[in-house]
Amino acid sequence: MKAEIIAVGTELLLGQIVNTNAQFIARACADLGVSVYFQTVVGDNTARLKEALTLAKSRADLIICTGGLGPTQDDLTKDALSELLGQQLIVHQPSLDYIETFFRSRGVPMVESNVRQALMLEHSDPLKNDNGMAVGVALTQEKTHYILLPGPPKEMKPMFEHYAAPWIASKLEGVAPLFSRMLKFAGIGESALEHELLDLIKAQTDPTIAPYAKEGEVAIRITTRAASQAEADRKLEPMEQEIRRRLSQHIYASDDVTLEYEIVRSMRGRGLTLAAAESCTGGRLSDMLTAIPGSSAVFEGSIVCYTNAWKHKLLGVPMSVLEGPEAPGAVSDETARLLAENLLKQSTADFALSITGVAGPDESEGKPVGLVYVAVATKNGTTVSKKLQLAGNRESIKLRAAKSALYQLWQ
Ligand code: ATP
Ligand code: MG
Repeated sequence: MKAEIIAVGTELLLGQIVNTNAQFIARACADLGVSVYFQTVVGDNTARLKEALTLAKSRADLIICTGGLGPTQDDLTKDALSELLGQQLIVHQPSLDYIETFFRSRGVPMVESNVRQALMLEHSDPLKNDNGMAVGVALTQEKTHYILLPGPPKEMKPMFEHYAAPWIASKLEGVAPLFSRMLKFAGIGESALEHELLDLIKAQTDPTIAPYAKEGEVAIRITTRAASQAEADRKLEPMEQEIRRRLSQHIYASDDVTLEYEIVRSMRGRGLTLAAAESCTGGRLSDMLTAIPGSSAVFEGSIVCYTNAWKHKLLGVPMSVLEGPEAPGAVSDETARLLAENLLKQSTADFALSITGVAGPDESEGKPVGLVYVAVATKNGTTVSKKLQLAGNRESIKLRAAKSALYQLWQ
């Protein structure tokens, strides 16, 4: 099945908002085994929207629109599709009842335009909106499937997941469903990972393997179509084992979870705790850890020791290590180790982690952008430090430095 995503909204064309809906829908389609061939953005204009729909109809079996289901005059998506397909708009009574109740319970009069949110095409299936008022629409005409979803992501995503996705899946009957496994990697970049698996990637037919990177992490999805879970497992298992054989030291999860989530989960299970000293990451690591519910059982806290004065005053790194022509400097193996070891002494944690480096854009202490040292000091008296040369801009170096420090800990 070939799909086209049409995002409707003049704000998208003007660059006032980012088209995150298309990203979400594209990924969700991939999960369903539907190939997205085109993505279109069109303004709030009936004629141009009909043009976009007509073009999409000529080249896609499934057209998914987002946006323009609201009550106002610039919300035109249902009108455009109804004109194009020659179908009347009718009221979906349960949606209208819901809207009326909503206004009544707030003591606010319902205006006529709100009725528009309860409209659907005469030969369509309603898609329930659990987080807003505009009902979604799904229909098939002349072998083309159409889905209309609201614009606000908090309405669109649950509508897609709970109602549109099963509707699409029902149209895929006869095609065996997709099964996939996910492996998450740390301490290895996307290209290095791809290099290790190049022969598998090149030879892949069934199952398929797709590496992808996001937010400083790399994942591989292994996918197949099968009649049952047991058959899928039989097909997926050998590929997973082969990847594990090659890269086991980098695999931290076989689920779509972040490295920080996995670390908090496993440390919590073992009753272990952590403290951190962050220089170039400026609190990024602490932010990641504290984003995980329940992290307080694991994460004691951190010191953001950005200047040399703070590294010295709060964590006892001698000025002779930090500054001077012969000194190793703030970005050095010595400093990373001392930060971690001195922090460990001050805290009650089982591990202390430190990060010091050059986030850029300019070099520092004559050291190149992306040079980062991370160290892990352990209660049993050992300290391990690692020198890294990270690529990217300031933001991605901070992110990668924090992830690399977590990887160091995880090992
Ligand atoms: P409403 O009832 O809020 O008017 P709607 O279905 O008519 O919803 P739009 O008016 O097109 O949707 O967009 C409403 C808001 O939803 C936008 O201001 C924007 O914040 C968000 N939005 C719309 N389209 C997208 C998109 N493609 N990606 C991300 N956000 C979007
Ligand atoms: Mg709107």
